[in-house]
Amino acid sequence: MTRSTARGRAKVTVRPSTDVARTGLVAIQPLGRKPRHCAECAVGPLALLVLADGAPHCLDCADLGHLVFLPRGDTALTRRAREGSSLSVVVVRRNHRKRRYERQGVLVEEAALALAERRCLADAEARARRRERDAARRAAADVRFAAAFAAEIRTLFPGCPPERAERIAAHASRRGSGRVGRTAAGRALDTVAVGAAVRAAVRHEDSAYDALLMAGVPRGEARRRVRAVVDGVLDGWRTRAEP
Ligand SMILES: [Zn+2]
Repeated sequence: MTRSTARGRAKVTVRPSTDVARTGLVAIQPLGRKPRHCAECAVGPLALLVLADGAPHCLDCADLGHLVFLPRGDTALTRRAREGSSLSVVVVRRNHRKRRYERQGVLVEEAALALAERRCLADAEARARRRERDAARRAAADVRFAAAFAAEIRTLFPGCPPERAERIAAHASRRGSGRVGRTAAGRALDTVAVGAAVRAAVRHEDSAYDALLMAGVPRGEARRRVRAVVDGVLDGWRTRAEP
């Protein structure tokens, strides 16, 4: 019954400075160099023990056998499980090199752990749903922005084919998406910005600009060369209504 106590007082000292000391109940994962058996029921070697009067006890004899082990790592889950558990035990293991005990996890009531897991899962789901709502809101805002942008193009360039206007607007809105708020988008809707977007589109699609860039012509030089063509298209769109 008391054969383990013959090994003398266990040399386990918990530094008061560690949180282990403050948490109250502590279970120890022995390092296994000398097998420990329960001082009360002699079961062993013990993978986890609780010291009572300096002697190792198994969890059952310590009335902790009904608890389940939750490894460290998930802070929110651990906090919730401990809060919901009327009895919880910190599990530690001696790190001889660092000369201190290190937390391995906690023992908590199974029902508390199950509840904590459900709550953490619900939180994760809530976060996922919020992300979806945000994405939908951004998409709707992008659509509104693109429509407003297209309308502005058609105002400034009545001769611009509607599908071109939509394409340019969609591109501008994609570039704007992901930016916070619609204030930037609102600013982007000024005449200068809309004109610049249309000019860029015409340069790429209605002139030799891209081919010149591919041929190694410097950007400024390429722009200068295609300016007349681009201006011609823009002037036409400005003055002439789409037939
Ligand atoms: Zn025992």
